[in-house]
Amino acid sequence: MGTRECKHICGESSQGIGEAGRTGEWRSARPVIDHDKCTPARQNKPACFLCWLYCPDAVISKTIPVQINLEYCKGCEICAQVCPTHAITMVNEEEFSS
Ligand code: SF4
Ligand code: SF4
Repeated sequence: MGTRECKHICGESSQGIGEAGRTGEWRSARPVIDHDKCTPARQNKPACFLCWLYCPDAVISKTIPVQINLEYCKGCEICAQVCPTHAITMVNEEEFSS
């Protein structure tokens, strides 16, 4: 989901089960998308995708609707910060554990 192909050596990481396992388990807050505010879903066309572009772990899909692979999302909040429509809210993980 959302993996960007790159033929060059660079510092970008990508999702996958490495020595650290499913790294989403480290997360203290998760990004939640309000699709009523998200441009691709609202307009039903490929648009924006800034969250996909800036996610350092490439766990956001470039699809309609946009989806986040929470198994590997580390909760860095970059997607929420770059979203121009404020469609992504960081929610404390404790709210999902009860
Ligand atoms: S919180 Fe960070 S790792 Fe998770 S989807 Fe957003 S940008 Fe990617
Ligand atoms: S940056 Fe925001 S508006 Fe743009 S695709 Fe991502 S969630 Fe939707």
